[in-house]
Amino acid sequence: MRAVGDNGSVNAAQSRHVAREPLAVRIALPLGVLFTAMASLATLCGVIADSPVARVELPAPAAALAIPTVEVDARPAADPCADDAVRAALDTGDDAGVIAAFGGGAAFREAVANGNAPCVSLSDPNRSWVVINKQRPLEPASFAPASLAEIGLSATTRSNELRPEPKDALESMATEASRAGAGTIGINNGYRSFGLQESTYDGHVRDKGQSGADAVSARPGFSEHQSGLAFDLVACDPRCGTIEAFGATPQGRWVAENGWRHGFIVRYEPGRTGTTGYAPEPWHIRYIGPELAQAYHDGGFHTLEEFFGLPPAPDYSH
Ligand SMILES: [Zn+2]
Repeated sequence: MRAVGDNGSVNAAQSRHVAREPLAVRIALPLGVLFTAMASLATLCGVIADSPVARVELPAPAAALAIPTVEVDARPAADPCADDAVRAALDTGDDAGVIAAFGGGAAFREAVANGNAPCVSLSDPNRSWVVINKQRPLEPASFAPASLAEIGLSATTRSNELRPEPKDALESMATEASRAGAGTIGINNGYRSFGLQESTYDGHVRDKGQSGADAVSARPGFSEHQSGLAFDLVACDPRCGTIEAFGATPQGRWVAENGWRHGFIVRYEPGRTGTTGYAPEPWHIRYIGPELAQAYHDGGFHTLEEFFGLPPAPDYSH
């Protein structure tokens, strides 16, 4: 049995059998009409099929419209910093309590990004929401966290400490990754002091010059590692690899997908160098706490600068 197209080709090749061509036309024409009719029917079916879906989706905008009214009733948006619960949590250094008093991570973010939360300093390195980049050094430059704890994972350097909260979150993330079959996660670098950052950066300057060093290493006083909230991961199967290899490992993919559940974000994503000032670093993870990490994830954010409505920080001022 031959298809219509085959007949057409044979007829074209054997042009002396002219009598057969009208036969192909006679077959093709009704088929064309049939296809057109089927297409019309399909379009009609599509319209019919779409209708119930459209009807199902209709209540959603109505529900979304109702939410701000509820929030306005519960918490006047005018000055969240005047709220007693916000002030009390700020005074005791209870970051999660502050965010809860604002009405959750998304509400906190929105207030800060809109300039409606002057009591929240994005420059305070003691807070889990601090933003450190090439335009925003640690203040003071010599900052050191009040408390540090050794991370209970395989470590490839001696810089294996973090603040207690991110340390606990990292350990539970590593346990969950392992249980999920993603393999073993190890630590390369956690907290780095101003002094250690100084020698690290100076080493890069000696090797690559200042602009080369700036592309791969923060200047002392400008590194997230100095906050005790950021760290670099490696995959250990069972021997630990390099930070550069981490992104392509099952561990790296798992962390990129699930880190937010534990309060983490991948700080330097691909295509964001113009905002963050850094080439992609899938191994460099920053703790912002579970409430903000969920808001970051749900809101589809890719930089902490955009998350808080801050200007891009592609480079140092001088
Ligand atoms: Zn790092």
